[in-house]
Amino acid sequence: MGRTIQDVIDRIISAVPGAPQEDSVDTLKSGDPQQEVTGIVTTFTATMGVLRRAVELNANLIITHEPTFYDHHDCTDWLQNDSVYQAKRDFIARHNLALWRFHDYWHMYQPDGIITGMVKALGWEAYRQPEPSALLIIPGMTVAQVVATVKERLALPTLRVVGSPEQSCERIALLMGAWGKEKQFQAFIDWKVDAVICGETVEWATCEYVRDAIALGENKSLVIVGHAKSEEEGMHYLVEWLQPQLPNIPLTYLAVGDPVTTL
Ligand SMILES: [Zn+2]
Repeated sequence: MGRTIQDVIDRIISAVPGAPQEDSVDTLKSGDPQQEVTGIVTTFTATMGVLRRAVELNANLIITHEPTFYDHHDCTDWLQNDSVYQAKRDFIARHNLALWRFHDYWHMYQPDGIITGMVKALGWEAYRQPEPSALLIIPGMTVAQVVATVKERLALPTLRVVGSPEQSCERIALLMGAWGKEKQFQAFIDWKVDAVICGETVEWATCEYVRDAIALGENKSLVIVGHAKSEEEGMHYLVEWLQPQLPNIPLTYLAVGDPVTTL
């Protein structure tokens, strides 16, 4: 008998200080926790593409950062009559896929596993500050250089930016995902950053604050990466972190990229 899905989940949780927590969303969303693990897939979110690829890989445990059914708690009462939900749910059941969410605990890990993955992908490990661990100080950088690095390292053809290419950009907050405007303002006001690199922004608040700051002669900028692209390298890094602990289980990271395209 090999390892069960529950064994793998328990092993990960035991590495996280303060976990488990009663109100966490990091729970098993489908599948039998006592079945033997045949393979593991890690991903930002369990898209239909990820589910199909997991079946091809014979991986029956999918570790996903985000929900599967478009709700923070994967509540599906409101979706019962929806064809998209029904087809996705049936696919998961038909293939006995176990879906476990690894969101809160990966952010609680010391230091935050999602930010670590992003910092590694960007090649900026040397600039990360111990506290707050989302703060980087990179001497001599400009907005143009930051944007060029992010585009190149994350293979993004374009980035949305509030700011000018020649602005200096030395104190940078990496606010991956959708932290909300309070955290973005905290970075500008309390951490005194020149730039916030975010996943999602709040256009009417953060974008307009930065526009006003620039008009008043202040050195502030905002770089918008998109939620998926801002966090998925953290789930890529999870393979590097987890594989040595599970040497006999095939582990595969599946990138999903940004769901939004430009036409
Ligand atoms: Zn996240």
